Amino acid sequence: AAKARQCGSLIYHAQLDAGSQESLSLLSEMRRAVENDELRLFLQPKIDLQTGRVIGAEALVRWQHPTRGLVPPMQFIPFAEQTGFIRMLSAWVLSGAARFARDALDAGLNLRLSVNLSTRDLMDQDLPAKIEALITPRNVPASALCLEITESAIMDDPERALSTLEHLHAMGFKLSIDDFGTGYSSLAYLKRLPVDELKIDRSFVMAMERDLDDARIVRSTIELAHNLGLTVVAEGLETAKAWALLAQLGCDEGQGYFIGKPMPQEDFIAWAQAWAPP
Ligand code: C2E
Ligand code: CA
Ligand code: CA
Ligand code: CA
Repeated sequence: AAKARQCGSLIYHAQLDAGSQESLSLLSEMRRAVENDELRLFLQPKIDLQTGRVIGAEALVRWQHPTRGLVPPMQFIPFAEQTGFIRMLSAWVLSGAARFARDALDAGLNLRLSVNLSTRDLMDQDLPAKIEALITPRNVPASALCLEITESAIMDDPERALSTLEHLHAMGFKLSIDDFGTGYSSLAYLKRLPVDELKIDRSFVMAMERDLDDARIVRSTIELAHNLGLTVVAEGLETAKAWALLAQLGCDEGQGYFIGKPMPQEDFIAWAQAWAPP
């Protein structure tokens, strides 16, 4: 906890111990952030790699801190996961994503919103009912939301995760395995999981143009996903060349700085309407 703050910036380490003064004050700061409306929903476009059409967006949270400016998620998500605050944060993101999906529909855009969930969310038996309660009043179909889960979140307690995921899947939500290839998931579980999508981790996609091994991993993941009947998404798409290569390999969807960086949700609809594939 002693070194939790570096260079005056907001860097909270995972080892910040739960009872320390510093973590208690961060917890109350995060509560205040929700009450005072300091969280911001950013959206990053996802496109169909063959047609270039915008088909969805990933919701990524930021914290507009009154004195520290815009704080990136990696500086507070790990702490939120540790303290259980993540459940409140996930509910906030889910409700924002559902509201946005509605606004987009009203603007004539049919977008699927992807939301990141953590282990804690998956361990919550009431999660499916909570999500349902968040989207029903917005009149958004479950299929407009895609829930992204990492391999490690699932492998924490695979049986329990499986039961939550089956429940969510039966309700019509799309499910995606995030950061695929970086965790220690087993193919035996992958086979049993009711998922719709694999997201190739950006480390492989970003390196594939210069490293043959990364290119092979990307190619095999696309094949594996398709053999299992899953949609495959490449994240970390940073160049025109990467897009061409991924499209040639048959990858379905892409997301990355070459297409668009995460942007405030207020800007997204105008961005999508102006988007023309290069
Ligand atoms: P992630 O789920 O893997 O999200 C994708 C991250 O990759 C985002 O970082 C995005 O800005 C970044 N990215 C996308 N395209 C590119 C690219 O072309 N190049 C590079 N270098 N990076 C790219 P961000 O927004 O900083 O989020 C980091 C992580 O924080 C996320 O990784 C996710 O694990 C977590 N996170 C963000 N928002 C939430 C949330 O609402 N809930 C939870 N549980 N986690 C979140
Ligand atoms: Ca994600
Ligand atoms: Ca990811
Ligand atoms: Ca990640």
